Amino acid sequence: MLSDLKPQAPDKILMLIEEFKADSRQGKIDLGVGVYKNPEGVTPVMRAVKAAEQRIWQTQTTKAYTSLAGEADFRDAMARMVLGELPADRLATLSSVGGTGAIRQALELARLANPGVHVHVSDPTWPNHLSILKFMGLPFTEYRYFDPETRGVDFEAMKADIAKAGRGDLVLLHGCCHNPTGANLTLAQWEELAQILEKSGAIPFIDLAYQGFGDGLDEDAAATRLIAARLPEVLIAASCSKNFGIYRERTGILMALADNGAAREMAQGSMAFLNRQTFSFPPDHGARIVSTILTDADLAADWRAELEDVRKGMLALREQLASELRNLSGSDRFDFIAHHRGMFSRLGATPEQVQKLKSDSAIYMVGDSRLNIAGLNRDTVPVLARAIVEAGI
Ligand code: PMP
Repeated sequence: MLSDLKPQAPDKILMLIEEFKADSRQGKIDLGVGVYKNPEGVTPVMRAVKAAEQRIWQTQTTKAYTSLAGEADFRDAMARMVLGELPADRLATLSSVGGTGAIRQALELARLANPGVHVHVSDPTWPNHLSILKFMGLPFTEYRYFDPETRGVDFEAMKADIAKAGRGDLVLLHGCCHNPTGANLTLAQWEELAQILEKSGAIPFIDLAYQGFGDGLDEDAAATRLIAARLPEVLIAASCSKNFGIYRERTGILMALADNGAAREMAQGSMAFLNRQTFSFPPDHGARIVSTILTDADLAADWRAELEDVRKGMLALREQLASELRNLSGSDRFDFIAHHRGMFSRLGATPEQVQKLKSDSAIYMVGDSRLNIAGLNRDTVPVLARAIVEAGI
């Protein structure tokens, strides 16, 4: 049996990490992997997370199973953080194994309801979206999103493509901080999108993996809240990996908004069933860290303050890089870097130029020219800017 297995395509970003490790050049710069790093290149454990873990260690009296949907404290606190309120009459929630687990369970839920469900995804999108869709055998179509000229969103093309989605199709949207491009819709554009979705009867499925990394915790949730208020049915997959810095604890949540109480009940039962079939109970430690923080005013305030420092640090790097490039290139064609939000920007370089950055300057980014802003610091920004101009980008 085992020898009948076929090799799986390796993950390009994970391969890049290995290549970076093996590079012995001094001053090499890793802008590949999607993990926040502070100016010292460290992915720190946040202060409030450490404090919450200490509190859990001191007070937790049992490690017995939780519930199939996960602890209600965590689910309620996350729903409030994302939606700004707890719309209990229409909301079903499920703790998941990271944001990825929430995405997978959302697609499983949609498939349970509609076995041939068609999914629409942005071109480009996080590669794992496509990989999961292919693995599950779900039909999907890409809608136009990124404008290679402006490095912003081609909103007219996006609208035209999304308007073609059928009733009951899922439209996968990045709630904020689009990965891999960094280009995002304005709130007015989200409003227009809501109207298109209302008209077509397609169901928005929002992936919210970077709340707090763009314009602020509430600002980054504004689009999700707008869609949740306007559309009868919405799926939301939120990750705690980045904003709480608990990547390896695998903490996330799936929220399903229904348009009536009976559908809500059905969704809640089906979601718990899906966890049962996959791994029974969801992991608890990360969820408990998050609920400990969010339900304690002091810990929550400290966490918000640290998250704001992280966010502002990345914004400052964006400004610095755009400004260096303005000076070196004598043009404003790189200003999009300052307008993008989140950890990533797509430079719009060719694969050959990305290769040149790697071979000539030991600067590593993903082949589609996605760079992780958090991989930079004040000293490496000028090095990158010079290399970009020298590579003819
Ligand atoms: N969605 C997007 C767009 C992401 O970039 C990521 C993380 N790379 C995730 C979901 C899932 O994150 P995790 O499973 O680590 O919580």
